Amino acid sequence: MTNIKVRFAPSPTGYMHIGNTRTAVFNWLLAKKLGGKFMLRIDDTDTLRSKKEYEDSLRDVLTWLGLTWDEEARQSARLDRYNQVVELLKSQGRVYACYETAEELEIMRKRLMNRGLPPIYDRSALKLTPEQISAYEAEGRRPHYRFKLNSGIIEWNDMVRGLCRYDAANLADPVIIREDGSYLYHLPSVIDDFDFGITHIIRGEDHVTNTALQVQMFEAIGGQSPEFAHLPLLTGVEGKLSKRLGSLGVRELREDGVEALAISSFLAKLGTSESIEPYYDLETLAQSLDLSKLGRSQPKFDVEELKIFNTHYVRNLPYSKIAHRVNVVEDFWNSVRGNIEKVSDIALWEHICCQNIKPEVEDVELTSCAAELLPPEPWGEETYSKWISEVKSVSGKSGKNLFHPIRMALTAEAQGPELKVLLPLIGRERAYNRLMGSEA
Ligand code: GLU
Repeated sequence: MTNIKVRFAPSPTGYMHIGNTRTAVFNWLLAKKLGGKFMLRIDDTDTLRSKKEYEDSLRDVLTWLGLTWDEEARQSARLDRYNQVVELLKSQGRVYACYETAEELEIMRKRLMNRGLPPIYDRSALKLTPEQISAYEAEGRRPHYRFKLNSGIIEWNDMVRGLCRYDAANLADPVIIREDGSYLYHLPSVIDDFDFGITHIIRGEDHVTNTALQVQMFEAIGGQSPEFAHLPLLTGVEGKLSKRLGSLGVRELREDGVEALAISSFLAKLGTSESIEPYYDLETLAQSLDLSKLGRSQPKFDVEELKIFNTHYVRNLPYSKIAHRVNVVEDFWNSVRGNIEKVSDIALWEHICCQNIKPEVEDVELTSCAAELLPPEPWGEETYSKWISEVKSVSGKSGKNLFHPIRMALTAEAQGPELKVLLPLIGRERAYNRLMGSEA
């Protein structure tokens, strides 16, 4: 069996967002499931827009998500290799120089559209005579280069979309090198995928037409196309994935307390026929990956839904998966997790239960009566209900007038986990002092 290798190939022209995170998650999970390797490729041929700051953020987010990579490459370091391939393709007539300016191309495009024809480049550059070329060069024009498509049907069996078919006659020869000599995305990507032995490519369906072009590029450089899977793009709740959501930074989600594995669990199942469930390790999530379960329609991404899922995720988080990040014992975690929203909330409740706080006494008569009624320890979860019903009958108070002052005295917070859970964690001595109004 071939050595499986996938890659995640971000362009460092922006921060890691939900859309490219999803692509990274799918690729990583597939590599894991198939026992293959995951490569990080930095697509930085666009030197004007690529920034180190963005690249650092991509790496940070991947590391935080646990999507570690086995190998990495940087396109800007491989220009010699691309040039070498281009020279070969030129000699084979598969890459040709063009001299049209952007305006001329625009006019040609409009003319075709006005006649109801698809705006496909007519290859007039192939008919230029050496004299015309010299004249253009003398004018100061620099060539851009196109890849010449062969006629015929281009086909591949997509892991998500099934059989995809394109007639090359309906596609324009793609520009692969700009006038300033810089590379566009298509060819370097194919050369890299070939050189690094990439076996599977998962990316957004916005790349489907690129794939048709690239299938011919793989053939031209003597390679075989990898397997392709094109993921339906995410849309926002209002239909289209808005700019804000499309670029929703994973860093911000992290700062908001969304857990790395909650993001991966959510993204891996969104738009599939499976329900979105919390996975507490990437390995298990990887084993559950089944690209055939992905639907063809564009799934809606709602950040509020992700946050609600995150709460569900946190409330079910096993202690063994979180012990290294929290400062509480297992019993404490198990008692309180069902009432928190983010992992960081546990610190507040640890403080309230185990450190000194200033209680808020609103009804001295009630709370001092409650203090005197506290039973001796040991305490369990049933302690609270017995105690509170005694407090109720002795004080004659009920409802909000009973529960609110007791909660404020015990925790100094109007809301929080159930008191039956908190009381044993606070312990008799602290509870007594707080109900009596002293700092404890
Ligand atoms: N740098 C390209 C992008 O971010 C990579 C696409 C691909 O996966 O081939 O869209």
